[in-house]
Amino acid sequence: MTIFNALTRSKLLLKEATSLNTDIDVSTLFDSLLIELEHINTFAHQLTSKTPSTAKELPEVKSGCYIFANQKAFYCPDCYDNDATKVATKRMNSKLRICPNCRTRIR
Ligand SMILES: [Zn+2]
Repeated sequence: MTIFNALTRSKLLLKEATSLNTDIDVSTLFDSLLIELEHINTFAHQLTSKTPSTAKELPEVKSGCYIFANQKAFYCPDCYDNDATKVATKRMNSKLRICPNCRTRIR
């Protein structure tokens, strides 16, 4: 599953770059790139889930978090991708969520 490792690494690098950069235009660009990576991540999951009975539940991406059918919580994408665990993110304000498990900041 090296594609997921590459995606996770790319997302971490982008988040790091975003936290270092104060230029609002560049930050917006990074945010857009993060969203694209999430899309690629979701597609990659769909492509690699050949056996639906054992495959992980496919989430929808909303506000940078994963949401699942019939569940209202916004889950941490990193925890789900890496450990297949559903960790509900905590809402800090209207623009920021934080994962209590891996401390990922989701905007
Ligand atoms: Zn997490």
